[in-house]
Amino acid sequence: MAMIRFENVTKRYRGTAKPALDQVSFEVLRGEFVFLVGASGSGKSSCLRLILREDVATSGNVLVLGRDLRTLANRKVPYFRRHVGAVFQDFRLLPNKTVFQNVAFTLQVIGSSRGFIKQAVPEALALVGLADKQKRLPHELSGGEQQRVAIARALVNRPQVLLADEPTGNLDPATSIDIMQLLARINAGGTTIVMATHEAGFVDQMKRRVIELRGGQMMRDERHGGYGDTSGLPRLQPEQVRGAAAAAALTAVLELQREVGIEPTVTDAEIAVAAAVDVADDPSTASLVSALAEVRPAPVSPDVPAPAVAEAPTDEAPAHAPAQRPAPAERLAPADRPAPAEQPAPSAPSVPPEWQVPAAQPAPAPRPTPRGRGRGAGTGGAAGAGCRASR
Ligand code: ADP
Ligand code: MG
Repeated sequence: MAMIRFENVTKRYRGTAKPALDQVSFEVLRGEFVFLVGASGSGKSSCLRLILREDVATSGNVLVLGRDLRTLANRKVPYFRRHVGAVFQDFRLLPNKTVFQNVAFTLQVIGSSRGFIKQAVPEALALVGLADKQKRLPHELSGGEQQRVAIARALVNRPQVLLADEPTGNLDPATSIDIMQLLARINAGGTTIVMATHEAGFVDQMKRRVIELRGGQMMRDERHGGYGDTSGLPRLQPEQVRGAAAAAALTAVLELQREVGIEPTVTDAEIAVAAAVDVADDPSTASLVSALAEVRPAPVSPDVPAPAVAEAPTDEAPAHAPAQRPAPAERLAPADRPAPAEQPAPSAPSVPPEWQVPAAQPAPAPRPTPRGRGRGAGTGGAAGAGCRASR
């Protein structure tokens, strides 16, 4: 399934003669890890901004998760972005908020319940190896740790797609390798990743798909591409497959947990938005609240099928503790949880169900009681991850 599709996309900025993107077409499939490479000014960030719907193409079509972003209503953009996480070169953390608060922030803005936030934030931080730094402020962290916080924040919604714009651009080589390994593990867990970079070393060593831009034009699209001569650059050690399988299992467990979570309410959203209005940079508070009111998921009957989970090969099961540097997933998945590998892996719907249920909900009661219903977002993220884990 195509997660992202560019059809003859051209992007012209006001007052510039040459387009930043010129008739660019490509497709990114579920579970892919794609490097977007090219010199500074070649159009990488423009490309990612279009996928995030921070900007709209001048001509051509951008389709993400089955949605045509040109026709996606502004008020639906915040909801759309729940499914597309993003990290940037400069981390973009809120300097006066703790690590926990930084990761919790977007959840508060979209109106997640306190109970859900208490569960999801520590999980996301554990996934990036920062379980013990929740109370730190960004300036008390190294650059690599700050980027991990940003990654946790991008992942806390379990998005289907993660965009990374030069995520290692401000980091030293050793720290960059850590971040690359983390991204590889996240990808192995089923998340589609598009990473813009001009760091040749990673591109060559990871042997992933490479799309190269030059002056806004697509120069190549190579399955297992490289960058060029990278002798002398630090080696990227291949991630252990076992860790990848564990991450896939964790993704499945998280999806299951989410199903029994607490439903966000508009009341929660309004409180959070009111508290957050000083830093919320996009879209207007009012449109955010109305969007939330509109997309609130409908209650789901108990016979809804279980979410997609990975069919993890038995020799990759996360049962045994690793000798060193355990993957967070392995530390996280308790032994007494039901093994997700037992279940079939249904194919995910091409359009997330929430987008198909835009009918307005009745206003919530003053003190809404939690219902046994999580957010229906992003099932299928773990599907097939175990199969893909070997590489
Ligand atoms: P990259 O991320 O590969 O460095 P960008 O997408 O940032 O490339 O930029 C592509 C081209 O578009 C460059 O020529 C840049 O100057 C131009 N550009 C980017 N953003 C804007 C903007 N907001 N207004 C005008 N020109 C822009
Ligand atoms: Mg850029």
